[in-house]
Amino acid sequence: YDNEGRITSILTVARDITERRLCEQRIMHMIHHDQLTGLPNRVFAGISMEELIDRARRDEGKVALVFCDLDNFRAVNDTLGHACGDILLNAIAMRLKKTCLRSSATFCRHGGDEFLLILDGPVVRDDILRTITDIRKGLEMPFDINNQPVNISMSFGIAVFPEDGDNFETLLTKADTAKCRAKEFGRDTHCFYADKMNRRMNTSLHILTDLKQAMVANELQLYYQPLIDAKTGAITGTEALLRWEHPRKGIIPPLQFIPTAESSGLIIPIGKWIIEQACRQAAEWHKQGMTLRVAVNISPMQFKRGDLVETIRLALEASRLEARYLELELTESVIMHDTEETLKMVRQLKRLGVRLAIDDFGTGYSSLAYLKRFAVDKLKIDRCFVRDITHNADDAAIVRAIIQMAKSLGIVTVAEGVEDRETLVLLKDLGCDIVQGFLFSMALNAADFAIFCEKHSATFMVG
Ligand code: C2E
Ligand code: CA
Ligand code: CA
Repeated sequence: YDNEGRITSILTVARDITERRLCEQRIMHMIHHDQLTGLPNRVFAGISMEELIDRARRDEGKVALVFCDLDNFRAVNDTLGHACGDILLNAIAMRLKKTCLRSSATFCRHGGDEFLLILDGPVVRDDILRTITDIRKGLEMPFDINNQPVNISMSFGIAVFPEDGDNFETLLTKADTAKCRAKEFGRDTHCFYADKMNRRMNTSLHILTDLKQAMVANELQLYYQPLIDAKTGAITGTEALLRWEHPRKGIIPPLQFIPTAESSGLIIPIGKWIIEQACRQAAEWHKQGMTLRVAVNISPMQFKRGDLVETIRLALEASRLEARYLELELTESVIMHDTEETLKMVRQLKRLGVRLAIDDFGTGYSSLAYLKRFAVDKLKIDRCFVRDITHNADDAAIVRAIIQMAKSLGIVTVAEGVEDRETLVLLKDLGCDIVQGFLFSMALNAADFAIFCEKHSATFMVG
């Protein structure tokens, strides 16, 4: 008021309110968003989930909560530093927000390397899986962190309203549990909480019961694919690949039943059989003058449970195969679980004298430190890098870098998925030691493999 009683400062008051509202908005934004990535945060996720659950309850709809956790993020932090870790988290958030997610999906940061994805509307298994596939695709291209390519994958745990719970906290706990299960199966995978959805799918194919019978009925077979010395063309070894010769369905490829074998624990007895069978077969071939090394795929679950060291020791003893002729193919995820247990087990295996190869190299995040620490003998460069090297300069650069790095560490390199001659020539130029792929042969049963060896040449060279 002025001294005549007239109001003078109304405008100021109005501005104050606006400012306060802006300020409130800013604070609400801060409370609801993550500082680093600008994504909605856990608080926002909770509020929004509760609202969606309320609505779904009225409409008899569904809401899915997907717990997304980066694989091996700690290794990125440890090797590149926290600042780079932050840059990576931000880059992941940006890319996924921009390219992979529909408008009906809410993508939030839960904290650390964990994200939450909320899906509502007509949420069925396929919708959820499609979104997860979109995210996976989005992560396929490496991130450029300070001029270094970094590959990262995610594991997903899924919980759904109303099946798994009727409030945010419950669903979050269950999605988290499912995520942990997904991690146990190896990186880069997903898992539903109740497993109702999973189970329904599996039992409809009767895979599990069939698989149990398959073991008893001797329907499981090892097929063998040659590993060829890139320079001389000699056969240096063979990779044992599992096949299921189903009486009605024909030959079933491993990717159709190994996940079930893993989630049910059946992979432990099956894996034991694979090791025994591979040793027996290799010893048999040795007797016939085919002195080659046999490589066996070891699933992460076998590494974690089951007495792998003892299984291998006994298999070598029973078959009388020299340990150096057995090679174990481990995925990066196995050695990235850098626990004392892992290290102890690797040491025991090395002490037995078996060789260690890292399978699908490049798809996870292995650092030099890990390769050295675990005294890895071989790196198998993943097929996805090898496939296009003659057309894609980036892939060629990645393969070149892997080979050079391996050389400097005294590690042998294998390129998988070699399908044509140009690729072979380029790999040879890049200094790759061993090649494997349909150019030479697909996996063959033991008898056909022996015939292939006979035809191919009489030269064996253990690489
Ligand atoms: P992997 O270890 O990466 O095995 C190589 C896969 O690539 C095999 O598929 C092989 O047949 C295929 N392959 C070989 N050469 C070429 C090529 O030139 N082009 C293309 N496109 N593919 C090629 P397969 O036998 O279907 O095995 C798939 C995966 O299943 C394996 O991938 C491995 O992760 C798993 N697996 C196979 N056998 C076993 C086993 O005995 N135990 C365990 N735990 N896993 C196994
Ligand atoms: Ca393999
Ligand atoms: Ca592989």
